[in-house]
Amino acid sequence: MRTTFLPFSPPSIGEEEIEEVIDTLRSDWITTGPKTKRFESEFAEFVGAPAALAVNSATSAMRVGLATLGIGAGDEVITTPMTFCSTVHVIEHSGARPVLVDVLPDTLTIDPEQVERAVTARTKALLPVHLYGHPCAMDELLDIAQRHHLHIVEDAAHALPARYKGRLIGSAPLACAAGEAAEGVGVRVLTAFSFYATKNMTTGEGGMLTGAPDLIDQARLWSLHGMSHDAYNRYNAEGSWYYEVVLPGYKCNMADIEASLGIRQLEKLPAFQIRRHEIVARYQVAFGALPELEAPTERAEVESAWQLYALRLNLDRLTIHRAQFIEELKALNIGASVHFIPLHMQPYYANKYGYQFADYPVAQREYMRLVSLPLYPRMSDQDVTDVIEAVQAVVEKYRR
Ligand SMILES: *Cc1c(COP(=O)(O)O)cnc(C)c1O
Repeated sequence: MRTTFLPFSPPSIGEEEIEEVIDTLRSDWITTGPKTKRFESEFAEFVGAPAALAVNSATSAMRVGLATLGIGAGDEVITTPMTFCSTVHVIEHSGARPVLVDVLPDTLTIDPEQVERAVTARTKALLPVHLYGHPCAMDELLDIAQRHHLHIVEDAAHALPARYKGRLIGSAPLACAAGEAAEGVGVRVLTAFSFYATKNMTTGEGGMLTGAPDLIDQARLWSLHGMSHDAYNRYNAEGSWYYEVVLPGYKCNMADIEASLGIRQLEKLPAFQIRRHEIVARYQVAFGALPELEAPTERAEVESAWQLYALRLNLDRLTIHRAQFIEELKALNIGASVHFIPLHMQPYYANKYGYQFADYPVAQREYMRLVSLPLYPRMSDQDVTDVIEAVQAVVEKYRR
């Protein structure tokens, strides 16, 4: 057994990030400026996006994305209960009604058939979540969006970098595919990434919204007080101090201090991903061999970003429940967690919309048996061995 506790998800920050932040601090420009611009363009290039806007979180990226698409009171936005609460909060903040639909049993991502059934005349957008880094069934979702004239805001907080049918999540071909095919009204797609401390790369707090340049320009206004300098550029009659407030914008821009971290983390992301894949490969072999466990699946048409490794317990083969399983791992010095407690079970949403536990049978059933294991690039081979041996030991001790 390990003698020290293996934390669930610490960040991987090196001297390069520290140097870049110091450089910014010494530069006299610490808020949104040249480093944020550079981070935006390097990020856009990395995922193949036409344009990118850096903000202070994925939550803000989604909020600004919904505002940019004109979604508000009287509208409905379809998402799933199997996500972090802010995915649903941003719909509430917009004034629209969040409509939750159940997930697919294999990937726990939104079920396109359920989406189709939930569309009404008030539906304006879909908010699919690429859970754990596994892309949603995007062709089916884009088809639904196209037929019903809906927009899409992707919660890609976990999906950096992830591929769907060869295309990176956030890339232009996916964002434009439906728009080009549709007659008249194209589907507009915006994608929100997270740089929260536990994500595949981090800026401490931070997020990125990618999409078509016209949408990203509009989102930029929403992200910074709705202040436009276009009038100055157009007429040049007033001084450079001149601006016009064209929207009641938010205040969620990214600062150059965070962008400094982002620039260096993005450089390391490919190496981070190689390490994540090595760890996942070992987990898959070890846990795939145990009938008490169900290892996560990766559909043939995708490449997961493997943000999280969510094991499922076959509870009928064990004498303990999930919470006890996690306690047993903790006793063996292994940190574990659960992603996520479905939103229909949370008091605010259950009370407001009258959800019953049984309304989402797949999310409900799978939630009961989810255990996320440590997965991050800094893990040593011995750390990985320790996790595997701890899980095996708990299974052996409590198998039915
Ligand atoms: C982390 C996370 C978010 C929120 O990201 P922030 O950058 O912290 O706002 C949203 N959705 C999912 C699925 C997440 O895991």
